[in-house]
Amino acid sequence: MLDYRRFKEINDLFASGQPERARRLLMELQSRCIALRDEMSMLKVRLQTFEDIFYLSRNLYAENGFYWLRTAGAKQGPFCTHCYESEGALIRLEKNGGQLRCPYCDSSYAGSARDSGGHADSGLPLRQARILPFAK
Ligand SMILES: [Zn+2]
Repeated sequence: MLDYRRFKEINDLFASGQPERARRLLMELQSRCIALRDEMSMLKVRLQTFEDIFYLSRNLYAENGFYWLRTAGAKQGPFCTHCYESEGALIRLEKNGGQLRCPYCDSSYAGSARDSGGHADSGLPLRQARILPFAK
């Protein structure tokens, strides 16, 4: 915390003809103010993070194998199950023909999110045959 009595102390030092001591005290207070401002910025970021987590915990829900977000009465989504469960990221799925595809992790999900179910595949690329060179 900032001790506001120090400002009176600085004023008294100037008034009593000790400008060098007053200036030193002023510089000390300035550096304390800068540190407090930095701490306040960091706390604001943390508060915003907690507000976001709280908002998500109240408005994110799973339905038919996908994640959805309730915003101002509207339903947003579907979001990629793989990205949310592995990284906590909400990535909206894009329609790609008859499938839904994640633009971030490239997982594809069969069917439409409005259908009953729509199960997710593993999100892993198809395994290809490995070519083993003959030993010489
Ligand atoms: Zn994804």
